[in-house]
Amino acid sequence: MRRFRSILLSLTFLSLFLFSACSHAGDDLIVKIDQQEITVTREMYREIETGVNVDDEKDYDLPLEYLFYQNGVKVVDSVKVIQDDIATTYVWREIAGSTYWRNVSQIEIDGQLYSIDQLNVQSGGFDFAVDHSITDVAALTAEALGISFGDKNSGFALSAVPVEHVVWFFLDGFGYEQFQFAVQEGILPNLSVAGDFYPSYSIYPPRTSTVTAALLSGLDSTQNGVWVSGIRSLNVPSIIDAVKDSAREVLVIEGSSTPFNYPNAEVVLSGDRDGDGSTDDNVFSHAREAFQGGIPSLTMIHFHGIDDVGHTYGPYSEEWRVKVKEIDQMMGQLLQELPANTLAVIFPDHGMHTVVGDSELGNHGNLILDDMSTYIILRTE
Ligand SMILES: [Zn+2]
Ligand SMILES: [Zn+2]
Repeated sequence: MRRFRSILLSLTFLSLFLFSACSHAGDDLIVKIDQQEITVTREMYREIETGVNVDDEKDYDLPLEYLFYQNGVKVVDSVKVIQDDIATTYVWREIAGSTYWRNVSQIEIDGQLYSIDQLNVQSGGFDFAVDHSITDVAALTAEALGISFGDKNSGFALSAVPVEHVVWFFLDGFGYEQFQFAVQEGILPNLSVAGDFYPSYSIYPPRTSTVTAALLSGLDSTQNGVWVSGIRSLNVPSIIDAVKDSAREVLVIEGSSTPFNYPNAEVVLSGDRDGDGSTDDNVFSHAREAFQGGIPSLTMIHFHGIDDVGHTYGPYSEEWRVKVKEIDQMMGQLLQELPANTLAVIFPDHGMHTVVGDSELGNHGNLILDDMSTYIILRTE
C-alpha cells in the first residue's frame, strides 16, 4: 500500500512537472531578430508590461515595439509572423501604430488577434554606421563646460574647450528625414550650413517627454526610468543638476508649456502672446533678449512649431514648409547673434511620419526610420 502510494505520488509529481513544462513551453515565443534567436518567456513579458504600464490601466495597449527595443533594435523594417506554419510578412511602418502585445505569444495587428509560434524581425536604420544618439548631448555639454557628469564619453572630439556657454536648440519633431527633405527643397539655407552635422538616433518611444528625459539624463529610456509618456520627472541625475552643482546657471526657454519638469533651471514660458497660433516667434524673441542680456552656462531653446504643424497638416505639407522656412530664418539670426565662446548644439527630439486617414496627418512614436532618425549639429562660436 505504501509502495503504491509512493508510486502514485511520483506519478502525480511527474504529471505536474510535465504539465507545467508543457504549458510553459507553449507560452513562450520564439523571436528571431535578424539572425539571433531569443526565447521570450512569460516572465520577460511581465517585466516589460509592468515597466511600461506604470498607471496600471485596465485597457492598456502595450506596443509590441517595446520587445524589439528592449532587445537592441532601433528601427524595424519588417516582421514575419509565423502561425501554424503559415508565415505572413508585414512592412513594419504599415502596422507599427496598430500592433500590440496582448500576451507572451499573442499579438494584435489592426484589431485582429493572433496566437503565434514565431516572430522574425528584420531590423533597419541608416544605410551607414551611426554611433551618435540624443543621449550623447548631456555628456557633450559637460565636456564642453569642463564639468563632471557621469562616466559616459560623448564620442565627439571637441576643440577649444572649455567654452563659456552651451546653447541647445531643440527643434521639436524636425528629424533627419525631414531635415534632408528640406535641404533638397532648398528651404533650409541657414540650418543646412549651421555646423558639423552628425546623423544620430532618437530613443524609444520617440516622443517629446521620453526623449527629453534621455537628453537630460544622458541615459537611454531603458535605463532612466522614463520609458513611457506621462512621466515628467527623472529619478536619476540630470545635466541641469550637474551644471548647477558647479555653481553655474541654466535657462530654459519654452513655448506655452513644458513637456518635462526642469527643477533647478530658470524656465521662461513664451506662450502665444500675439495669438498667431504659434509660440515660435515668442521663443525667438526671448532667445534674442537672453543673448543680448547675457546667457548662463547652459541655455535650452525649444522650438515647437514644426512638430505642431506636422501633426496637423502632415510633414512635407505646404503649411509645414512655410513653418520650416520660418524656423530656418530664426535660427539663422540666432546663430549670428550667438555670444562669443559658445558651443551651439542643434538637434531634434524625434522625427515624424505621414498619417493617412486620421484627424492628424502626422505623428511619431514608432520604431521606424522617419521617427527614430535624428542628428546633432555642432557649431562653435
Ligand atoms: Zn517632440
Ligand atoms: Zn509631436
